[in-house]
Amino acid sequence: MNLDHAIFQDADAARIHLEAQRWPHGPNCPHCGNADATRITKMEGKAHRPGLYNCMECREQFTVTVGTVFERSKIALNKWLLATFLLSSSKKGMSSHQLHRMLGVTYKTAWFMAHRIREAMKEDVKSAGPLGGEGKTVEADETYFGPKDTVKKRTIRGKPSNSSKRSIVALVERGGKARMFHVDRATTASVRDVLVRNADRKSTLFTDESNFYTFTGKEFADHATVKHTGGEYVRYEADRVVHTNTIEGVFSVFKRGMIGVYQHCGEAHLHRYLAEFDFRYNRRTALKVSDNERHDQLLAMIEGKRLTYRRIGEADHA
Ligand SMILES: [Zn+2]
Repeated sequence: MNLDHAIFQDADAARIHLEAQRWPHGPNCPHCGNADATRITKMEGKAHRPGLYNCMECREQFTVTVGTVFERSKIALNKWLLATFLLSSSKKGMSSHQLHRMLGVTYKTAWFMAHRIREAMKEDVKSAGPLGGEGKTVEADETYFGPKDTVKKRTIRGKPSNSSKRSIVALVERGGKARMFHVDRATTASVRDVLVRNADRKSTLFTDESNFYTFTGKEFADHATVKHTGGEYVRYEADRVVHTNTIEGVFSVFKRGMIGVYQHCGEAHLHRYLAEFDFRYNRRTALKVSDNERHDQLLAMIEGKRLTYRRIGEADHA
């Protein structure tokens, strides 16, 4: 599917595509859950906007965007699909300036659309379940990126200290998915909180020698560390290779995207950018996910995540 495909050019084609994605077995009423095709009528004719349905169970009307991040948007649906496609297929993301030019909408609109799309990219951790498991390896690490909005810049020997930067804790299952979290401060407690809520304790845990992991590591089936301060990055053992290069690769794509593409990001929005990079990493080409499949998976995630202007500034620390 390339960018001149009808779903990116024409609002009706976009709506039909979205309906097929969201409702493979026919329309579902978002108000009462009715999915009985004989109890839902399509409102035809010029008096109604296209794609309007009437539910005979609850007597409410709906379209395919009700209850999704696209709801009540005045932006044509084909532009939404183009924006979701561009953001889901660009490895390091796409700036609001670029979206504004490619979609022909104002910069402010492009910025808000991008944040709504990032909201859709957020994984429902509860239904997805923990990373790792018996016989599987989870790498964990923390990184510091960008200045905190509220803390005065502190420096140690001329360099900004970690405590004046934003902290990110992340996990990755080798050969599987990654999850990054913005935490107020990386500590033994905050790191443990992320670990136990997101990684199966039957996993083997690989970290660096940071003492954040010393005690929590004992809760896992096994915990092995590499001593980065001693110059050790990879250690070959009888039946395994101990390193945290996978998670460092995840951080590296994130940082290159943030520096090269996004440049500015308010701390309150950081969690949404992390969700965006996780979304793409977890559906990366190496896992044999095509751009079209990744886009359709995103369209399946737009439900139940409306983001209003009022809510958009709220921080979401893990
Ligand atoms: Zn209904």
